[in-house]
Amino acid sequence: MNAPGPGCRFGSHRVVSPAGSLPQAAWRLDSTPAPYANEILCAVDVLNIDSASFKQIADACAHDARAIGEHIAATVAERGKQHNAVTGSGGMFVGRVLDIGAGLRDRTDIALGERIASLVSLTLTPLTIAEVRGVDVATGRVWIDGRAILFETSAYARLPDDIPLDVALAVLDVAGAPAQVRRLARAGQTVCVIGADGKSGLLSCVAARGAVGPRGRVVALVPDAGTLGARLLAEHGYADTVVEADARDALAVVSAVAGTMPALADLVVNCVNVGGTELASILCARDEGTVYFFSMNTSFAAAALGAEGVGKDVTMVVGNGYAKGHAAVALQLLRDHAPVLTYFMQRYALRAV
Ligand code: NAP
Repeated sequence: MNAPGPGCRFGSHRVVSPAGSLPQAAWRLDSTPAPYANEILCAVDVLNIDSASFKQIADACAHDARAIGEHIAATVAERGKQHNAVTGSGGMFVGRVLDIGAGLRDRTDIALGERIASLVSLTLTPLTIAEVRGVDVATGRVWIDGRAILFETSAYARLPDDIPLDVALAVLDVAGAPAQVRRLARAGQTVCVIGADGKSGLLSCVAARGAVGPRGRVVALVPDAGTLGARLLAEHGYADTVVEADARDALAVVSAVAGTMPALADLVVNCVNVGGTELASILCARDEGTVYFFSMNTSFAAAALGAEGVGKDVTMVVGNGYAKGHAAVALQLLRDHAPVLTYFMQRYALRAV
């Protein structure tokens, strides 16, 4: 039976502590799997843990799948949500609609039983886990038997029929990146993508290539130019140059990219999953250029003080995971670029327990 009445549209009624906070900032949520009148209850079968968070958990658990699963289950039991206290980040889920609160039934276009992907962070999504069924250490994918609540304001996407679920999930998790790059990059500009052979990095390169056009330039910085992703970027022209460097070494990065661009980049896009890369990103941008920090492993203080310290007047954009239409933009990139779809199929499809 539905819980009575509507809750706060942003979900503050689910906050246990600290009182007065919204769900993302809260330490603990009430994740009771019974929807308020303006909530949707979902049966969850897959969590896609965001890359920065998964790397941190995997490192802490010596990359042992069982230990990672236990770690995630313990976090969710303690906090009522999958919110990594170290990285501050979450991920997203895929599940089926189990129940729709009475107040939403005639206002939503999804039906009971439909399969959806959440497009809001797990850091604000009330979640319970009955069982962790498997962990894929290579992709950060976690199969569970769980329940999640979507608030009235929580975005979600119907899963497409023409793209495998695992691929759609990998792409939807980072959909904000290509959508924002399309907005920020202009024809003829130089765009430098750092962490370019990961999910968001690859999609950002593809989006940038389209936005800057034939007169523009895309420079892809990767830790290893021999990976499948790095080769894809070079062979299909999504990047004009692929540069191998460690993004944590700011001076090495600048000297590696310097000769590959006529001038420093108009736009730098940071898509790495490790910390300590703020200054490399800032130094690759031209004076009055833009640095877009999509990475969740970005320190506001390191970026702001680092830019000041090197006297760099750049606009820094926080990687909002949401942009209008971002899911459609990201999925369409796959449909329009067969090599990219093939790559994502090779890396992310057909993994299940
Ligand atoms: P991903 O697929 O794991 O890609 C990360 C990339 O960074 C990988 O290609 C990795 O290379 C590369 N990298 C790691 N260390 C590096 C180094 N020292 N120098 C250069 N490159 C390095 O991750 P993703 O899913 O695209 O996510 C990227 C970032 O966005 C993460 O921080 C994630 O948490 C964040 N994120 C943000 C949002 C948002 O809303 N803003 C949403 C989702 C994810 P290797 O694989 O070779 O190590």
